[in-house]
Amino acid sequence: MTASSASSASPASPTSSGPTVSVALFTSDLRLRDNPVLRAALAAAEGVVPLFVLDRAVEEAGFAVPNRRAFLADCLAALDEGLRERGGRLVVRSGDPAEETTRLVHECGAHEVHIAGGVSGYAQQRETRLRMALEEAGCALRVHDAVITAVAPGALTPSGGRDHFAVFTPYFRRWSQAGRRTPLAAPRAVPVPEAPGSLRLPRREGARGAAPGLARGGERAGRERWASWRRKGGLQRYGQREGGQNDLGADATSRLSPHLHFGSLSPVELAHEAAAKGGAGAEAFVRQLAWRDFHHQVLAARPAASYTDYRPHGDRWRGTEGDAEREIAAWREGRTGYPLVDAGMRQLLHEGWMHNRARLLAASFLTKTLYVDWRIGAAHFLAHLVDGDIANNQLNWQWAAGTGTDTRPNRVLNPLTQARSYDPQGTYVRRWVPELAAVEGAAVHRPWRLPAAERARLDYPEPVVDLGEGQARFRAARQRDRG
Ligand SMILES: Cc1cc2nc3c(=O)[nH]c(=O)nc-3n(C[C@H](O)[C@H](O)[C@H](O)COP(=O)(O)OP(=O)(O)OC[C@H]3O[C@@H](n4cnc5c(N)ncnc54)[C@H](O)[C@@H]3O)c2cc1C
Repeated sequence: MTASSASSASPASPTSSGPTVSVALFTSDLRLRDNPVLRAALAAAEGVVPLFVLDRAVEEAGFAVPNRRAFLADCLAALDEGLRERGGRLVVRSGDPAEETTRLVHECGAHEVHIAGGVSGYAQQRETRLRMALEEAGCALRVHDAVITAVAPGALTPSGGRDHFAVFTPYFRRWSQAGRRTPLAAPRAVPVPEAPGSLRLPRREGARGAAPGLARGGERAGRERWASWRRKGGLQRYGQREGGQNDLGADATSRLSPHLHFGSLSPVELAHEAAAKGGAGAEAFVRQLAWRDFHHQVLAARPAASYTDYRPHGDRWRGTEGDAEREIAAWREGRTGYPLVDAGMRQLLHEGWMHNRARLLAASFLTKTLYVDWRIGAAHFLAHLVDGDIANNQLNWQWAAGTGTDTRPNRVLNPLTQARSYDPQGTYVRRWVPELAAVEGAAVHRPWRLPAAERARLDYPEPVVDLGEGQARFRAARQRDRG
């Protein structure tokens, strides 16, 4: 166990004279390998109840969208299977996590509850409520850090008294030097007491409306993906221009983000294994894991950054009224008339996932070419992304909008320049925009230049806005709003 904090009253004795019991409350750490929460719960008692609570508040907030529900169902099924192989099982409840956990503590006479330290404002409140409820029950809450992230938020702070890093480069320097705990093996046995009842596990098929190309979830699927990606040279190629992380057509990134979001893979273990492999590709990959931690430490220190500008400059963004409504609808559907933007937006709808380079461009296009409020885009992403994450989504959106941690907040990504650099032959566009599949080479990025007869045969829209005009509008608005 790394840094962990205990709270509350001294642990109550078990209610019966039977074996001592602890609870491992799973949240965003749905794995058996390298799980400090489970290992500590096992070390603390003779029996452990592995618990997952389907959180009613998350449902009511609309956060439990079909893609993430489906992936979660896979993760819970895999977790239950792994526990059963070790003599245990997963207990699933539904409702308020604080109430349900406390109810279970009473049912099984547990004296300790173990949980991973959360990051978002909601996770922090949940922890506070849980701590208070358990205190009344005379049960200890033990919170484990560096479970959801490789380095705990708050573990690194800049000199000068600030509570978090606001710029990535100095954060990364410190992050790279910080010691990381050694990954833990999966436990051999998980003895679970008979008594506590469980709801049936949710099923992937129950998540109606999930994207047709949605990836499989669960620890085994995650480990297989990690192994096969490395076997095919993904890690070596990662930092290269061709076939690397920014090559849209090559589709060469790890695609591990949903596993990191649900914790079916451990960031500590990935960082450890990649660093052990060494080389420029591995270093570039580890750097991306640090970006993930960076956003988590910003959100942990500034939970309101999930909705309010991290660096407010007085932008008066366009909302959903008037002309903007038509432009936003075109953006959401992947019909802006800019093939690279549209390819990304179609990938999102088809897979519930989008390549990072396409996410950057889609976000820049919405905020800086259409000058639409970043929150509208972030909400659309959260409605579809299987890895949809408050820390990474909201703070990457703010980065793209120039309200976040980007040190060059006025940078604008031009779809045509991006196409030249990251999809020079148009492979990515032809894959995701079937109307343009027959257009060869780089011409696919400028369908408006095709001969009129050919254009007339394509069911593909004219550009929703002239790029030059859109970008001039952005600059004028920024000048007006920021003075
Ligand atoms: C507008 C926008 C919204 C985004 N929303 C999310 C989100 O909701 N959830 C999410 O996990 N990522 C988000 N990202 C970050 C990034 O796009 C994804 O993590 C990445 O595309 C996932 O693909 P991968 O697993 O193949 O990444 P790889 O390139 O293989 O990288 C490995 C891991 O590093 C982390 N990572 C990579 N890039 C970033 C980054 N820019 N910021 C933070 N972590 C990163 C991810 O956990 C990723 O799985 C967003 C980026 C943008 C620009």
